[in-house]
Amino acid sequence: MTFDPELISLLRVPPKLVALTGAGVSQESGLRTFRDAQTGLWAQYKPEELASPEAFRRDPKLIWDWYAWRREAVKGVRPNPGHYALAEMAQRVPEFTLITQNVDGLHRMAGHQKLIELHGNIQRVRCADCYTFAEAWGDDTESVPRCSVCGGLLRPDVVWFGEALPRDQLEAAIEAARSCDVFFSIGTSGVVQPAASLAFAAHNRGAVVVEINAEPTPLTPKANYVFHGKSGEILPRLVEAVWG
Ligand SMILES: [Zn+2]
Repeated sequence: MTFDPELISLLRVPPKLVALTGAGVSQESGLRTFRDAQTGLWAQYKPEELASPEAFRRDPKLIWDWYAWRREAVKGVRPNPGHYALAEMAQRVPEFTLITQNVDGLHRMAGHQKLIELHGNIQRVRCADCYTFAEAWGDDTESVPRCSVCGGLLRPDVVWFGEALPRDQLEAAIEAARSCDVFFSIGTSGVVQPAASLAFAAHNRGAVVVEINAEPTPLTPKANYVFHGKSGEILPRLVEAVWG
């Protein structure tokens, strides 16, 4: 694989860089999508019926158990070379903002501690009432664990259907997209809003847009550089070509 020398020089400057990652990056680690992952006991439910505040109000224990099962599934998954390449880019580029739509925490596992998690993180648990984060909780209890501060029910710190994205994270993401020189859109279908609009915001402000995805997306016609394939193969080669 060869890269356009202009892209290489652009990254060497270094630019203000933003990378947005989506489900495709997690799938390369073997993590099944939300929908495909509904197996066994859970096959009878649609994710939309479980991942909502209404569902949690109706049957908190059912939703708690589903997330306990999903957290367990994530434990068997490891970051892939794409996650590590992004962590390496963050070391090389001082003004680098990583934004992810993924809730699995794989970027953190790859050493990326500072990032914007638009949809939350499945490994974090917080109070449904007062937002206090819980450090420890029991998954195997008869009832849903409760907040040590106010006694409210604990829930995963993820964004459910019908819920707004965390405002501070979204604002930081928009600000980064509007002010960057280069925007990478990686493993994301470009259809889930508001994340999809970030790349267009960057493009409209004159940023160079690089898309890495298995297949074409609505962003593809606007992108300056398009790579169809696995981010776990393309990103490490790009890092090698620029900084190797
Ligand atoms: Zn509380």
